[in-house]
Amino acid sequence: MAFSKELLDHIHVMQGDITTLEVDAIVNASNTSLLGGGGVDGAIHRAAGEGLLEECKTLNGARPGEAKITGGYNLPAKYVIHTPGPVYKNGNSGEEKTLGNSYYNAMMRAKENNLSSIAFPAISTGVYGYPKEDACRVAVKTVIDFMDKEEYHIDIYYVLFDSENYTIYKNYIKELNNEL
Ligand code: ADP
Repeated sequence: MAFSKELLDHIHVMQGDITTLEVDAIVNASNTSLLGGGGVDGAIHRAAGEGLLEECKTLNGARPGEAKITGGYNLPAKYVIHTPGPVYKNGNSGEEKTLGNSYYNAMMRAKENNLSSIAFPAISTGVYGYPKEDACRVAVKTVIDFMDKEEYHIDIYYVLFDSENYTIYKNYIKELNNEL
């Protein structure tokens, strides 16, 4: 992973509810149906309203690691990028690759739409059971690599709902800063 101070300075870690963020896009840790569910998915659909569900019905779902973009409807964010992360089994079932694809493809949708800010939840670390420390590394490395390789430096917000994930992300970013 190639990272500079300039790149790391684009990364912001905060604790809270992702549905309240005024950014170009928030990312939804959806399921493959894209028709809503529990956790962050349910919170996003409740806050966005019926229009989001209607648009999602036209998308024919998504495979784990894919990402599809919709409008933000009643959310303060302009767009929602929906991506199902992997369900964690044993760590040897391609989970890391699939989780990386979720972050990579979300960044790709942002770039295609010329977005300048994006907020991510900790994909797969809820009901899908991905170990939080490992998931954090994949989340941060994949996004930094994308920004570096694509020369696309935008504002990244990692919005952590639980204090455990928040502490993990804070510490990891501190670690990366110390390596510079
Ligand atoms: P997954 O099925 O991908 O594991 P979950 O929604 O169960 O998705 O959990 C993903 C992460 O989203 C968890 O860390 C959970 O704490 C977090 N989360 C739940 N609600 C919100 C919210 N409103 N904003 C941001 N993160 C949230």
